[in-house]
Amino acid sequence: MQLLKGKTALITGGTAGIGKAIACLFAANGADVAIFGTNQGRAEAALKEIESSKKDSSQKALYFLVDVSKTKEVEETIEKLLGDWGKIDILVNNAGITRDNLLMKMKEDDWDVCLDVNLKSVFNTCRALTRPMMKARGGSIINISSVIGLTGNAGQTNYAASKSGMIGFTKSIAKELASRNIRANCVAPGYIETQMTEALPEPVRKAILEKIPLGRIGQTLDIAQAVLFLASDQANYITGQVITVDGGMII
Ligand code: NAP
Repeated sequence: MQLLKGKTALITGGTAGIGKAIACLFAANGADVAIFGTNQGRAEAALKEIESSKKDSSQKALYFLVDVSKTKEVEETIEKLLGDWGKIDILVNNAGITRDNLLMKMKEDDWDVCLDVNLKSVFNTCRALTRPMMKARGGSIINISSVIGLTGNAGQTNYAASKSGMIGFTKSIAKELASRNIRANCVAPGYIETQMTEALPEPVRKAILEKIPLGRIGQTLDIAQAVLFLASDQANYITGQVITVDGGMII
């Protein structure tokens, strides 16, 4: 079954990791897919994977080199995409970075860039798409938060604040936009195998694994499947929620 046949989707940070898996799964479910990222090489490689995941040659796939923290860049690109496609039914705010350090050692720039890329980006894309989604009387927004936004973590005050901020933002727009049939939800991944986590030293990975009741590290597809569900009509009565996908790590 193609859960997103005829739908159009924008996925930020679709050039790698979780975002790329979401983009490929959406394409495999019949959607037209546009991705935002900043790295051309990664964007081209991701686009090839998205193309080969499509169910039908008439489905569209595009990438845009956009820094999601830059309001004007985001607005202009969304306007262009809307001009080409006429509508964006699904928005996935997935682009994210870490700039870890203990608070007493954290540079102001590490705070600013983390909050701008992870949280201001959500303001940028959602504000740009609110009016078109309201006009279309429908839409699904999925914001990729983190279990760290729920539990906090030493050395990640900036990241945790951005990810908690996404949850408050999501619940607020869920209330603002529900009357127009626009749903907004968060997925909070646990520990997922991507370039973001591969840098962790082996003893740290081992310690994390011991805390996961399902006994394995998460894969990007584990997250993509939850996002697909929330994006689809199967989740028509779900809004303002946070779905934790973490193998039971924070039970
Ligand atoms: P990743 O492999 O490092 O990929 C990050 C993506 O974000 C890339 O596509 C990157 O694109 C994009 N990106 C970064 N800065 C950007 C910017 N300024 N403008 C546009 N795009 C930007 O990370 P991931 O592990 O897949 O993480 C994806 C999301 O899941 C993040 O929000 C992360 O916080 C969240 N998450 C991950 C985990 C985990 O264990 N991996 C756990 C919880 C939550 P370019 O390289 O092309 O710029």
